[in-house]
Formats: sequence, C-alpha cells, structure tokens
Amino acid sequence: MTLRMHVDAGRWRRHLQATLAATPGLVPVAKGNGYGFGIEMLAHEATALGVDTLAVGTYPEIDSAAGFGGTVLVLSPWRPFLGAPKDDRRVLHTVSRLDDLAEMAALPHRPRVLVEVLTSMRRHGIPAERLDEVRPLLDGVQLEGWTVHLPLVGDTTSEAQRLIDRARSVREAPAWVSHVPAAQLARLGDGIRSRVGTGLWLGAPGALDVRSTVLDVHNLSPGQTFGYRQRSLRRGGVLLVVSGGTAHGIALAAPSAVSTMRQRGIAAAEGGLQALGRARSPFILDGRGTWFAEPPHMQCSMILLPSGAPVPRPGDDVEVRVRHTIAHVDEVVLH
Ligand SMILES: *Cc1c(COP(=O)(O)O)cnc(C)c1O
Repeated sequence: MTLRMHVDAGRWRRHLQATLAATPGLVPVAKGNGYGFGIEMLAHEATALGVDTLAVGTYPEIDSAAGFGGTVLVLSPWRPFLGAPKDDRRVLHTVSRLDDLAEMAALPHRPRVLVEVLTSMRRHGIPAERLDEVRPLLDGVQLEGWTVHLPLVGDTTSEAQRLIDRARSVREAPAWVSHVPAAQLARLGDGIRSRVGTGLWLGAPGALDVRSTVLDVHNLSPGQTFGYRQRSLRRGGVLLVVSGGTAHGIALAAPSAVSTMRQRGIAAAEGGLQALGRARSPFILDGRGTWFAEPPHMQCSMILLPSGAPVPRPGDDVEVRVRHTIAHVDEVVLH
C-alpha cells in the first residue's frame, strides 16, 4: 500500500543551493509533515546546505530535527505551559508576550530568544506601541533578534521595515522575517534572517513526482455494486483500487466542481454513477483526472478508469497530485 515520492535529487538540490545563494541569512523551515519529506530528512539536507539555524514549528518537533547540529529555532511562541526544554543551548525560543518574556528573563540561564512583534497577521506578538516595556527585560535573556511574521498579501516589506525600525530603536539586533520576497529583502538593511519553507523545499518545478500503485482492477457490469457504500454504475465500467488514502493526506477534493444541480445532472448523464457526492480524485490516468468511486479509505482509494483509457495492470504506477504540506508518503526515493 505504498505511496512514493520520487525526487530528482540533482534538480532539487540545485534549487536548494540557488535559494540559499539568493536569500540573505536563509533559515530553512522544517515543520509539521516536513513539507512531505519529513522533518528528519530536511534536517539532514539543512546540514548539507551548511546553514547555522533550522526552524521547527513546535517544541516536540525538536527531537525530529536531531540530525541537524546547529541552532534549532522554535517558531511557535514559548508559553509557560508548553513544556519547553529548560536549558538546551541549541534551542532558540520565540517569545511573543511581555508576561512570557518576564518569566523567561527570571530563569537562571539567560535563554536564547527572538522577540516577536505583532504584525497585521494578528497571530502572535508584542504590539509595536508596547516595545519600550521590553527593554528592561532584555538583561535576563540573550536577545538574538526581533521577529515578524507577515501575511502573504499586501505591502509586507513596508510593514516589516516599519516594525523592524521601531524594534531596533529599543535594541539593535538581527531581524527575522518570513514571506518577504527575496528581491525586497535588501530594503530591510543588514542583519536579515529570512525563514523559508515552501519556496525552498517545494520550489523546484518538476523535481517531485508522487506515485501510487495500482493494486487491483475490477470490471464492473452494469448495476453491479462496489465499495463500502455499495454504489453501482448504470453502464458498468472499470474500478481501480490504488494505493494512497486518508492516512497519506489523500482527501476528497472540494466537491464544488460538481456542486450545482446542473453539473450533477451532467455528472449523472456522463457516467451513470450516482452523481450525488461524486468527487474528483488526485490520481491521474492517461493524462486525465479521475473520479473517486467512493470516499478514500485509510490506505487505498477506489477510483474509476476514465472511459476509453487503457486499462492498467496491478503494479503499474499512477501519478498523484498531492498537496505536499498535508501529504504523508510512505517512502521518499532520491534518484
Ligand atoms: C511556517 C512558517 C514559515 C514558512 O512558511 P512557508 O510559507 O512554508 O515558507 C515561516 N515563518 C513562520 C513564522 C512560519 O510559521
């Protein structure tokens, strides 16, 4: 039941190197599902890139990044109730509330911190107008920078510049930013650290190819039922069982494409499948998208062969268009 991601390693690593060269102070981000590669693998790639810092999302993810020898930045802000490691000098904490900064400053070992400034994202951060209250707390910590997390739209560079200037009037320190286009980073001055995940790991077009395998092929006669839901095809067809299910992050595509009554009518006329609940699948056969025969199972999916397409055999590969930020493949194969 294997779902594999094939990586054109030469192409992928050339892109990693090019991104490194184009991005001042690059800090690779390896969090969550590790952008489909897994955090462990990205930790080793970050080591090969020679960067000094790797960012993870949460405190428990630090363990997955053990293969990286440098500083590990935790992007989720420190909170007293999160069970952060007490005195691990590899760890660089993000602090986003005055109360938390005060608590950290009272610890005996002067933790390494970035202080987060609130942006128009309004997720975490100390509001710019309260930054003067940060100053007296800085003696108790090792301030390694100011950090801002910007939205993906709008004039983020101007916002970053304004907030960084304000923060640097409190204490001169590097500025850690996300989602500022590489071409704009120069406007922010020196000492910029740019955190990049998607654009780094997933930015090389054509380097990644996720493949499922045909596990079974069933000819369906008209009206013959199949699946947990015992649906049937009025005109019959070919049912394929392919590897890849909900455990891999294979989900029903938003059914909006077939949501109107008219489209449902078309769907019904086309295949005779009970049109209600019919959903596009991410599996590609004969260069064409396919339909789920029913919602994906845990580790495999039932899909319908597009009419007229050559019938594959068990063991054949099937292309899958996954969202890499939610995919969990069984195997990453470098070529
Ligand atoms: C996840 C995250 C990033 C990386 O985002 P991408 O869009 O994947 O590049 C950068 N900064 C912060 C604070 C994040 O949480």
